[in-house]
Amino acid sequence: MITNDQLFEASSLSLPGGVNSPVRAFGSVGGSPRFIRSASGATVTDVEGTTYVDLVASWGPALLGHAHPVVVEAVQQAAARGLSFGAPTAGETELAQLVIDRVESNGIRPLERVRLVSTGTEATMTAIRLARGYTGRDLLVKFAGHYHGHSDGLLAAAGSGLATLALPGSAGVTEATASQTIVLPYNDRAAITEVFAQFGDRIAAIITEAAAANMGVLPPEPGFNAFLATTAHSHGALLILDEVLTGFRVGPAGWWGLENSTSSAQEHRYLPDLITFGKVIGGGMPLAALGGRAAVMNSLAPLGPVYQAGTLSGNPLAVAAGLATLRLADAEVYRRVDAAAAAVSNATSAAFDAAGVAHRVQRAGSLFSFVFGEQFVTAAPKTYDDVQGQETWRYPAFFHAMQDGGVALPPSVFEAWFLTAAHDEAALGTIYEALPAAAQAAAL
Ligand code: PLP
Repeated sequence: MITNDQLFEASSLSLPGGVNSPVRAFGSVGGSPRFIRSASGATVTDVEGTTYVDLVASWGPALLGHAHPVVVEAVQQAAARGLSFGAPTAGETELAQLVIDRVESNGIRPLERVRLVSTGTEATMTAIRLARGYTGRDLLVKFAGHYHGHSDGLLAAAGSGLATLALPGSAGVTEATASQTIVLPYNDRAAITEVFAQFGDRIAAIITEAAAANMGVLPPEPGFNAFLATTAHSHGALLILDEVLTGFRVGPAGWWGLENSTSSAQEHRYLPDLITFGKVIGGGMPLAALGGRAAVMNSLAPLGPVYQAGTLSGNPLAVAAGLATLRLADAEVYRRVDAAAAAVSNATSAAFDAAGVAHRVQRAGSLFSFVFGEQFVTAAPKTYDDVQGQETWRYPAFFHAMQDGGVALPPSVFEAWFLTAAHDEAALGTIYEALPAAAQAAAL
């Protein structure tokens, strides 16, 4: 039998770091990644034949669970009709219209037009180009700790002081590119006000994760997204709400829908100009999208001057998976995911308490993660700096003990845990059994 270690050794000779996306490499927890042979429902099975209850869910897409039979059947039927045509299909219109109709709150629909692309990176990259083309401005505001994909302008790290133009966050990103991105601390209204006072007539857009979940889960403070919309709009800039991770996962209309429908405060309601989607919208196939009102979206080619294209955009297999997934993702699915998320986060928190591990549960809808450290018991983190100050060293031991107990967690403390509608009592039972020993390992 071939082992995970052997496969990792072999893959490291042909793939940089042995993987095709860095976080799969177990860099922050140590050891060899599991090489997955198959996945079904709430579980993944590796090449050694070990089955794990999966809390990664392909980093979000598997809302219904892995290999849902209806989704697989839809993809098989689409494949039999042809893999890619490079010409429009009716399914693309159906999916776009489904997205337009679903993203609704209090009778308001922020999307009138949708463009399908293949990855979340493409969606945010296009949204930014569109915002610049539409406004005729050059600067972009983003928040420290927010991830929007790996396009050049978004891999910018904060400069030394407030309103300092950013430095490159990756080798290969030029200073000229990075200097057009202003990186601010999250949840900091004063920083926003100050930067708009200084650069207001040059800022094309603010891009923000609808609820941050790439530095662990760190939701916006109530009213923060609405404040961003108001500030951007009063200076003629756009608000790009990045729902690649949260969209169709935390609720049928994403975080925007959740926030706008549950907030009792009228002043917390807001309208983003562009919304980006990925992950769940493709049901596990490479599909993503951006959408907004027609006046902005029609600046895209072929109608407008902002160029964007893709050989495989709206690929028929990906569209079939997306349509099947969204049609199945009804209120009952979200109820099940929410209930499973609450059960697992509560049980994990209780296990940490029993082992004396100081921590805080961070939640945004059904997404959650943990921050470790006494300081978080009394005060929730608000910024990237806050969460970076945590006891990250507790996580690798916890992660490996959970893996030994048959549970696959995200291999980094800075990632959200993903539940699916397929996490039934048996799956939760495996997690509960693994928790006490793993929490003890985190305590050492
Ligand atoms: N935006 C957010 C909020 C994400 O979480 C991600 C990926 O994790 C992306 C954009 C990039 O998406 P992709 O990995 O499909 O390029």
